[in-house]
Amino acid sequence: MPHNKGVMALEFAPAVKRIPVYPAGAGYARRGPLVRLESNESPYPPLPEVVAAANAVLEGINRYPDPNSIVLREALSARYGVPVERIAVGNGSADILLAAGSALLEPGAELIYGWPSFSVYPQVAGLSGARAVVVPLDEREYLDLDAMADAVTPATRLVIVCNPNNPTSTALELDRIAAFIERVPSRVCVMIDEAYCEFNTLNPPDASIALLAVHKNLVLLRTFSKVHGLCGLRVGFALCATTELPEALSVIRQPFFANAAAQAAATEALAHPEEVARRVDSAHVARSEMRERLRSLGLSPAPSEANFCWFELGPLRDEAEIVRGLAEQGVLVRAGSALGKQGALRVTYGTREENSRFIEALSALL
Ligand SMILES: *Cc1c(COP(=O)(O)O)cnc(C)c1O
Repeated sequence: MPHNKGVMALEFAPAVKRIPVYPAGAGYARRGPLVRLESNESPYPPLPEVVAAANAVLEGINRYPDPNSIVLREALSARYGVPVERIAVGNGSADILLAAGSALLEPGAELIYGWPSFSVYPQVAGLSGARAVVVPLDEREYLDLDAMADAVTPATRLVIVCNPNNPTSTALELDRIAAFIERVPSRVCVMIDEAYCEFNTLNPPDASIALLAVHKNLVLLRTFSKVHGLCGLRVGFALCATTELPEALSVIRQPFFANAAAQAAATEALAHPEEVARRVDSAHVARSEMRERLRSLGLSPAPSEANFCWFELGPLRDEAEIVRGLAEQGVLVRAGSALGKQGALRVTYGTREENSRFIEALSALL
């Protein structure tokens, strides 16, 4: 008897086919020194105090983690001035996105987001069976908030605004976002994905929090993955205008989604705002240096307000060839075709040395 009756043995839910597959970064299986500029990670290792805090809880991992992440949520509450009951934590902010999608959406409902934008948004739609209303960025590669507001229908339940936008690095001024929220009916959840807000110079990173007092349908999505550099542990959070979404999330999610090391490390990371400021400063320096060096290669990066840049290669250059050529020189970046736009590259700012290695590798190919 054969053990395997063929590849089509199981019947799957349609969601499996609906969800587009986002290719994993190429770096995980490679050996040797790599310049990893492909996932918008921090090039800086975690602070020793953060590592120590994560290590300290490992002694107790025979116990489940705190299902309410109360110490972390209290620290977030103190830091951001939002009551604990209006803060949701997640196993990365992608976990909050997917859970919010499950809580808000269903077949027949609609979800609006710009495109190209974060690769998880199509997954939110596919998983829930809701219809994705995908609004193209404008010709300058900014979110088109007017078109997004025009796309709202009675079926809309969730609108996601990625600011600054991944992968284009562009950001919109907060008053434009505030005017957009005014146009969205209050029964529709408006989620501003602020994964890169610390790097944004258009407005103070926490200016959006004031909008929570005005708009009961607003959620600000944040993460410890980027400026705090804790993406390997997975922890994100949502600052919400009301308790409605945190309560709904706690109903639908698996228990103990935020692990003990992540809770402890994130709590400790919040105690080091000087480190955040230092990292933001170095990203700003990298931003202007990279912009000048890319321009001197004849390229035109989009105006970046994030920890990465985005630029078109131009009609005469093959994106896949350039990505491969960079990888052969040990430099990993993200191809635009994997992010929604053929012929572009998304490149995270690394350390000064890493950025120089990238520029040298790229100029050798152009
Ligand atoms: C990186 C990123 C996140 C963070 O995801 P985590 O699950 O918190 O690691 C969220 N939104 C956007 C737009 C991102 O680029």
